[in-house]
Amino acid sequence: KISPPGHILEIISRLESRGFETWCAGGCVRDALLLREPSDWDIATAALPQETAACFPGLRVLETGAAHGTVTLITPKGPVEVTTLRVDGEYTGHRRPIGVSFSRNIKEDLARRDFTVNALAYHPERGLLDPFGGQEDLHRGLLRCVGDPMRRFDEDALRILRAARFSAALGFEIEKGTLSAALDSLGLIKSLSGERVRQELTKLLCAPGAGTALKRYPRIILAALPELSSLPSPQEVPPELVPRWAALLRDCAPDSARGLLRRLRFPNREISEITRLIRQLPLTPQGLSLWKRLETAGLTLKDLAVSGGDLISLGYSPGPGLGAALEGLLRGVLSGELQNSREALLSHAAKNM
Ligand code: ATP
Ligand code: MG
Repeated sequence: KISPPGHILEIISRLESRGFETWCAGGCVRDALLLREPSDWDIATAALPQETAACFPGLRVLETGAAHGTVTLITPKGPVEVTTLRVDGEYTGHRRPIGVSFSRNIKEDLARRDFTVNALAYHPERGLLDPFGGQEDLHRGLLRCVGDPMRRFDEDALRILRAARFSAALGFEIEKGTLSAALDSLGLIKSLSGERVRQELTKLLCAPGAGTALKRYPRIILAALPELSSLPSPQEVPPELVPRWAALLRDCAPDSARGLLRRLRFPNREISEITRLIRQLPLTPQGLSLWKRLETAGLTLKDLAVSGGDLISLGYSPGPGLGAALEGLLRGVLSGELQNSREALLSHAAKNM
């Protein structure tokens, strides 16, 4: 039983009383059927953006995505996104469509959505609308493209990452045909903007099933992060942006981690927080052997201008944290980021304690 909150029901009935067919659609219907609290209730309506705005003279209406037909109603219960039904226009460069055409038909609007479980709509009187078997896939725990998966990934390669993201968020598997199309389309991922990749991967990494998704779909993640040669084994860290990204990148040299984060258009503050945390995390066994190889080419821990004893005098406690701190210094020196001088290393170690 789906029960949208009162203010959502009011918006729907107001639009319908003016003659505009209106539904709840997408992730909120999926989450409600899964008995999860939807993060937001998105509304899909036949009304054009200006028509929607005109229905709510008493509310502030923001044109948050006028090009895509989205307006945000600022209600006393919080912001609500109302999007005009649409059919996507031509796609270009495996990214978002160049134009959208509005539609008066909810089924057309559901047909342009990515996965069957996201292509559901609900109306308080008309009930559930499920033209693509989304409910059955919800029960089976499957992510299946709406329509031909090769074509849908070719239209928008972000959907490949979204499949892995929803797998992590919902604990679902990618359906066989959809997965094989995704793996055949991995080359398209490089055409995506860094920003969209960052947003999807961050959601993936912070989801409860992130570890499982990384294990199941490493090729998808590696296609989005070609700087990595393999994925480190999962590590228990809080499900937040900085620790999760640091754990993923913890075998990277600081410079290459920074380059990757810049490419994904992370804000500078997050780049420094993530790279700083990377230096504090112990290397994985794979990472350690990688670094040992680097060491044989040059420096080893013994060549550092400071010793474990020096760090203990700074206030570090003996134990694994001390080893990690020394490794962090070595990484900094190997990458050229730190000078191998007593002064530079001690001041760095003191700052990062
Ligand atoms: P979340 O709870 O994480 O917000 P969501 O399902 O609402 O999950 P969104 O990214 O907010 O996901 O997208 C909202 C809806 O828009 C999706 O459920 C899907 O129907 C549709 N959608 C979003 N991005 C795409 C895309 N790239 N291609 C096709 N449909 C999409
Ligand atoms: Mg959403």
